[in-house]
Amino acid sequence: MDSARFILDVHLGKLARLLRMTGFDTLYRNDLDDPEIIRIAEDEDRIILTRDRGILKNKRVKHGHFVESTNPKEQLREVIDAFALKNNIHFLSRCIACNGTIEEVSKEEVQEELKPGTNQYFNEFFRCRDCGKIYWEGSHFDRMMHFYEEMKASLGINKTP
Ligand SMILES: [Zn+2]
Repeated sequence: MDSARFILDVHLGKLARLLRMTGFDTLYRNDLDDPEIIRIAEDEDRIILTRDRGILKNKRVKHGHFVESTNPKEQLREVIDAFALKNNIHFLSRCIACNGTIEEVSKEEVQEELKPGTNQYFNEFFRCRDCGKIYWEGSHFDRMMHFYEEMKASLGINKTP
């Protein structure tokens, strides 16, 4: 599948963050009810991921998947397997907070927004084009990298991000 886009039900907030971390277009809001989720999925051609079988019985739902696991990391693996996405992972391409796209920026560009310690020790920075959140090597970055390595091993992926 080329460009899987998802919308998640209210119970899958942690999975939403992991999907964004791996670069998948993932819409998640904790205030959407079932009819809204179904409408957005229709309008934006998104796959509904849910822990609620009821929503998948609605005739308007074209693409949906019941997530079996309750563990976020296993849920991610499950979704990547179910939609054959392991070669479509683009690490550090999407904002975990808002689903916007992130791009690498120079230190000069973000300098004023950084705390003194960060400014001193790190050199590689990324920023979300939508919400402006800054990611840098050493904070979220290391944790995300560790997670990514772990996941690559478990999925049998060899290529680097
Ligand atoms: Zn953002």
